Amino acid sequence: MSEEAGPGAVAATGVAAGTGAPAGARASGRAPDASNEDGPYRLAELLRKSERAVVLTGAGVSVPSGIPDFRSPGVGLWANVDPMEVATIDAFRRDPDRFWRFYGDRFASLHDREPNPAHEVIAELERRGLVRGVITQNVDRLHRRAGTQRLVEIHGSIEWSVCLRCGGRVGLERVLELLGQGKGPPECDACLEPLKPDVVLFGELLRREATEEAFSLASSADLMLCVGSSLEVFPVASLPGVTRDANGRLAIVTQGSTPYDGDAAVRLSGDVVSELEAVMSALD
Ligand SMILES: [Zn+2]
Repeated sequence: MSEEAGPGAVAATGVAAGTGAPAGARASGRAPDASNEDGPYRLAELLRKSERAVVLTGAGVSVPSGIPDFRSPGVGLWANVDPMEVATIDAFRRDPDRFWRFYGDRFASLHDREPNPAHEVIAELERRGLVRGVITQNVDRLHRRAGTQRLVEIHGSIEWSVCLRCGGRVGLERVLELLGQGKGPPECDACLEPLKPDVVLFGELLRREATEEAFSLASSADLMLCVGSSLEVFPVASLPGVTRDANGRLAIVTQGSTPYDGDAAVRLSGDVVSELEAVMSALD
């Protein structure tokens, strides 16, 4: 299962430290793809016609919130650190103190990030009944904070940390408070065991419930709107194929190529915020 467990943690690394860019700053400022002028209109039309659309998002949707994609070289906490060494379940079990010295910075760096207009458009599509849910590989909580109701976080979330002994859960604010006291790793009040972030680390299996819900949404979708993901990391890499094979349509909004570009009914390759705002304008 290492093929599956690894990417889970990779996604977790995708929310490493921000660059300090102000929340809402555009990742690249690239305008909507001029060669594809009617793309947002075609996507709006697909959304109107579909009955069971779902959204699938990756790191690119959070880049405008100042959370760099971990694949960008030399940025964030991972620039000088090998995540395979520190962000693993083995590293956590072996030396929780060291693990949290690293991971605590990461929590703190994500804590004050705000949803950007791409998150807001996606939440609005759900409010309007145009999509039935959002599947994300991001652990940054920003979809929920933007108002998304049905959210499948396949790699977990920094919202909670868990006690592996009693299953107790502790919220982010409290974990940050404990970390701020500088007394080592945050611990479960009941068992005094070190808490583990409720995200999928390298070496951990994906959580079954979330994965099953993601595949169920994908297989019943008549449209999957993929935003800000290169669609290369399992299980996100498989989900568009599930929708396609069930005769659903694909729409892709992301910079850079994906393995599904040839299958997409609409392909928008400009900045995610500009493109999604254009889609929203086309719906009004
Ligand atoms: Zn406990």
